[in-house]
Amino acid sequence: MATSTIEHIPSRLQAVIRRKLLRWYDRHKRDLPWRRHSHNPYAQWVAEIMLQQTRVDTVIPYYKRFLARFPNAASLARGRQETVLKHWEGLGYYRRALLLHKACRQLYTQKKNVPSVAAELKALPGIGDYTAAAIASISNNESIAAVDGNVARVLARLFGVKLDVLSTQGKSHLTRLANQLIPVSRPGDFNQAWMDFGSEVCTPRRPACQACPLGGECFAYAHGLTDILPVRGATKAKKVPVVQVVVGVIAHGQHILVRRRPVGGLWGGLWEFPNLEITNGRRKSRIMTKLFEALSLEPDEWSARSTVVHQLTHRLMNFHVFSGQVSHRTDQKLSDAYRWVTHKQFDKLSVSTAHRKIYDAANETA
Ligand code: SF4
Repeated sequence: MATSTIEHIPSRLQAVIRRKLLRWYDRHKRDLPWRRHSHNPYAQWVAEIMLQQTRVDTVIPYYKRFLARFPNAASLARGRQETVLKHWEGLGYYRRALLLHKACRQLYTQKKNVPSVAAELKALPGIGDYTAAAIASISNNESIAAVDGNVARVLARLFGVKLDVLSTQGKSHLTRLANQLIPVSRPGDFNQAWMDFGSEVCTPRRPACQACPLGGECFAYAHGLTDILPVRGATKAKKVPVVQVVVGVIAHGQHILVRRRPVGGLWGGLWEFPNLEITNGRRKSRIMTKLFEALSLEPDEWSARSTVVHQLTHRLMNFHVFSGQVSHRTDQKLSDAYRWVTHKQFDKLSVSTAHRKIYDAANETA
């Protein structure tokens, strides 16, 4: 494969790319709600955290609701964790919300404003190189490149970089190239231009090379390598593990039993229905009996409902839903993590999408 090992981008080429990309951005930039708060590092911070592993279209309504409820870092710091999670509900990767909340509380306790310098931002929980560079360049005009997967793909094609874009060597090489291109004026716009350009023009599959403003400068286009670049590690097809779980929606009169997951780990801090993983191929009904025993509850009646399938990044969860009725509560035998709530109260709790589906499944067939 013809590839370039460019280390230094000639100044003339740097200037051409800057000019063309910014001109393209000025004509085509997306109207996104966080772009109306360009000089506000908190508003950029919330946007960048929400956008991690989440599509722009999905983020927009969450972002507007979150900013309306928590308009600044102090209001977020003062917010209860439960309320913060409720405003994140459905967006997934809840650890992001918990770290954002923790970082705002840290700043509030130290009586500090949200920093707008990349080095200071990186010292906060949940902020890495990319996020720090994006916030600092957009809100503070700091000349620092923000290189995510989108930008890495465009740069690898533009300069014919054959290094694995997921490797440490590949990432640092591409970051060096990106930092040569970042202009002193409008660095935030330039970083955002790469982001928009990567999602609108130089897309992962079938990039729009014929209409591309950088077509004349692009190594991959000139050498017919747009399908080959970027190189992305050894992408062996991984078998996704399937986890089987029995979950009980247990009612006592008008109340249902829920418990709060410990902070840290999957769905940390969110509420869920009691459940047990199926091990050693045991029968689901046997596991449900064990679950009642573990809760010290004696069911009047219970039955199997449907199965809720939920895809996570690294595993597939099959929730086998059971519903049951009990006439006696044994609150003193349950830990503080458990609570009996009415259906109305359940609506107000922060619950993962999977457990909302479980609730619907139990009620649909009840
Ligand atoms: S010419 Fe094609 S591959 Fe090159 S930057 Fe433009 S869209 Fe991407």
